[in-house]
Order: sequence, then C-alpha cells, then structure tokens
Amino acid sequence: MGQATLSMRTSFKEKVLAKVKKFTIKHRRLSFLGVAFAVMFLTVYNIYSYFSHNVKRFSCLASIMLFYIASSSFTYPAPLALNVSFAAQSEKTYDLESYETQTIESAEIAESDAELSTISVDEEALEDTSVAEEEEMTIVEGEVIDDEQTSLEEILVNNEDLDSNIVVEEAATNVKFSKDDWKLILVNKQHPIPDNYDFPLGDITDTMHCDERIIGTLTAMMQAAADDGVSLIICSPYRNSNRQTNLFEAKITAYMEAGMSYMDSYNLASQAVTVPGSSEHQIGLALDIITNNYSLLDEGFGETQAGKWLADNSYKYGFILRYPLGKEEITGIEYEPWHFRYVGVDAATVIHNEDICLEEFWTEYLHD
Ligand SMILES: [Zn+2]
Repeated sequence: MGQATLSMRTSFKEKVLAKVKKFTIKHRRLSFLGVAFAVMFLTVYNIYSYFSHNVKRFSCLASIMLFYIASSSFTYPAPLALNVSFAAQSEKTYDLESYETQTIESAEIAESDAELSTISVDEEALEDTSVAEEEEMTIVEGEVIDDEQTSLEEILVNNEDLDSNIVVEEAATNVKFSKDDWKLILVNKQHPIPDNYDFPLGDITDTMHCDERIIGTLTAMMQAAADDGVSLIICSPYRNSNRQTNLFEAKITAYMEAGMSYMDSYNLASQAVTVPGSSEHQIGLALDIITNNYSLLDEGFGETQAGKWLADNSYKYGFILRYPLGKEEITGIEYEPWHFRYVGVDAATVIHNEDICLEEFWTEYLHD
C-alpha cells in the first residue's frame, strides 16, 4: 500500500471525525447521535477497507470453497465399502417404511381379533421384510449374476471334438512380452476396447461364448479342479455390448432407487460393473466363476474351496484373478474373487508369483 493512499485515507477519516465533533459542539443535546454515527461509520469503514485490502485473498478463498462444494458431489473419497453400506442402509429405511405400512394394514384386518394373533401377523411381516432385504443386498453388493450357468459336463457335451487330454504348457522363463499379444490386451476405464478389436468367438455351450482360443485351457482347468474335488461353474463369459450396457444401467437404477444421486450412482456402478466398452467380458477373455454350493458373486466366494483353488491354481492354466484384494486403487475395481481373465500361462505365472495385477504387469514388463 502506497504512503500517499494511506495518508489520504487517514485524512478522510479525520475529516469525518472533525465534522462529527463540530456537530456535537453545535448540538450538545444530540451529542450521543454524533458519537453513534462516528462509531457506526468507523466500523463500516474499517470492515470495508479490510476486505478491499484483501480482495485477492478472499476471492481465492471463495473460489477454493466453490470448487470444493462443486467437486464434492462428484467424487467419493471414502472407501467403497462405506458407500455400499450407505446404499444398503437407505434400502433398509425404505423396507422399514413398507414394513410399517404392512403392519398397519394387517392390524386393520385383524382389528377385532385378539392381541396375540396381531403379534404373530407382525412377525410374519418382519420375516418377509428380512427376505426382501437380503434380495436387495445381493443386487447392491455383488456383480449381477447371469441366469445362465454351465458346468464342466455341459461344456464337454457341447464340445465333443475337444481333446480331453489337453496338455497345458509349462511357463517359459525369460519371456519377452509384447503389447501386440492378443492374450495381454489391457482393458480398463483408461484403455477401452479398440474399435477394430476382432476375435474368434467360440461356443462354450449353445448360448455361452468366449474367445475360441481359451476354451481348451478353460476345460482343462475345470477338469483339474474336478479332480481335486472342486466344482467350478461358469456363469458370465462373453457379453456383447448391449448386455454390458443393460447390466450397467440396472446397477445405476438400483443405487438411485436406494436414494443416491445420479453422479454417485454412476460412480458406484462403475466400481461394481465395468463401464460399457471397458469390460473384459466384451472381448471374450474373462469369465465369472462360481461353485455349486456358493452362487453369489461377492467377496465371500474368495473364502470358498473353489475360490481358494482358483486363486492358487488358475495361473497354471493361464488365468489370473483380475481384480485382487489390495489392488483396488490400481485396477479401479473392487475385489472380485470370481472374475478370471485369460492372459496365457507365461504372463499369468509372472503375475501370480509376483503378486501384481495386470496394470502393474503392463508397466513393469511391457515396453514400446
Ligand atoms: Zn466379471
């Protein structure tokens, strides 16, 4: 601040004070008015000059706050699990409402009945609610399960010409991995499927498909699991882009019905179901696998015999657990112990032994 402006300002202040002084001397009875005016004027003037001196600072602060307010409705800094339980929570409140309505209705019907019977009706209503709640939870938490499922026997029936004694290759050492290798294609939100991507679509069964080149090794893996007493059931191999879009939109709707905004629902949906155009299911190299006594696509699958067998052995057949626990920040997808991706035995062995995900494998092993 220049010396000149400062002195000008002081003199302006002094001028006002001098006028107030004059006024109080002239009208002694109204002197309190003069004092009040002086106090008011000085306060307002000081506040005004404080702000006008710090315009830059305050506009900077205001824009930071504006930016924070604007961006906070689009992002989710809290861990994913928190958000999911939030969705489930809203679902519960909704269910509670319907439970209350149900209770009122049943109370009305049983109006003339004894108190005891009303209580038993209430309990029934409660049971119904908990079932509904469980169903909702399945939709909110896991990836949506396709109706179609297929076991090893069905695959073998549908692929009679398949050699039942497929020799699974051993992992080679010192392999030079190439970005052009079809097995290693990286598909995620940052790397959508190339427009010209083409692959031979093979039949697992009449209605289930995947990349033809992996059916042999997939069958060998299922056979090896069966030999170890583990049943593997394929439930989501290739999905065309329409199917992927429908799944994605269904997920958004489910979150929105639970009371979330569109942006929040979109963000959560993109963590649970891959955004259409960036799903490995669309290139026929990914499979969702369940087992006969556990058919939910949720974290619990990782604790089943089948989940553990796959985590330990799938690499020998060229498959990797694509979205591992602890790598969510890198993959951008929550832990999915049921989702397996074919990358070939060599890459799968490296990825398994070094405990890395496909994104890390790309930065460490694939160079231009
Ligand atoms: Zn999947």
